[in-house]
Amino acid sequence: MTNATEQLSLNGLSGYENLDAMYEVARSCRACDLCKTRNSVVLFRGNPQAKLMIIGEGPGQNEDEQGVPFVGRAGKLLDKILESGGIDKDKDVYICNVVKCRPPGNRVPTPAEAAACKGFLEAQIEFVNPKLILLAGSTAMQHVLQVKNPISKVRGTWSDFKNGAKVMTIFHPSYLLRNDSREVGSPKWLMWQDIKEVRKQLDALEGLST
Ligand code: SF4
Repeated sequence: MTNATEQLSLNGLSGYENLDAMYEVARSCRACDLCKTRNSVVLFRGNPQAKLMIIGEGPGQNEDEQGVPFVGRAGKLLDKILESGGIDKDKDVYICNVVKCRPPGNRVPTPAEAAACKGFLEAQIEFVNPKLILLAGSTAMQHVLQVKNPISKVRGTWSDFKNGAKVMTIFHPSYLLRNDSREVGSPKWLMWQDIKEVRKQLDALEGLST
């Protein structure tokens, strides 16, 4: 396990009383220009009591229309991957994004947009207090861990995170949509290895808590 020293600041002082208070502020947020083109502020799906959190990049068109993260093709693939690892998408995981409003044309959010939205993500991590965090794709990795590494090099490896949590970067499911092979060593096969590892960690956590 490596030690991630440069991480998203998380000092437990997000300033919100609870998640609902943060959601209320976020729903009317105009702190960056993404507010001008959004239809929805896309906050989360899943269980705020889950031990596992998945953080993606930002909402796409479907997510912006429905107000829920990871509901398009990539989200459906993510659900299938989770299900194959015995991870219930409604009960076992809390899913959110680095930015809560859709970047036009699905472009990558700018550092300024991610910085403007950072307090909301910090609050989500603070209140959900996950034991395992998966960063889906390089944008999430860069903004949470402040590192730029090829995902193929860092995936499969846990790093220490704040509050005793562990964090791992995984392929973004949209990347898997473009790489359909399931051969040994392919991105889909590697993702399957990562999900099996997550299942193992969840089992260990559940074993400790019973
Ligand atoms: S992306 Fe975040 S900071 Fe920007 S307007 Fe939306 S909620 Fe506010």
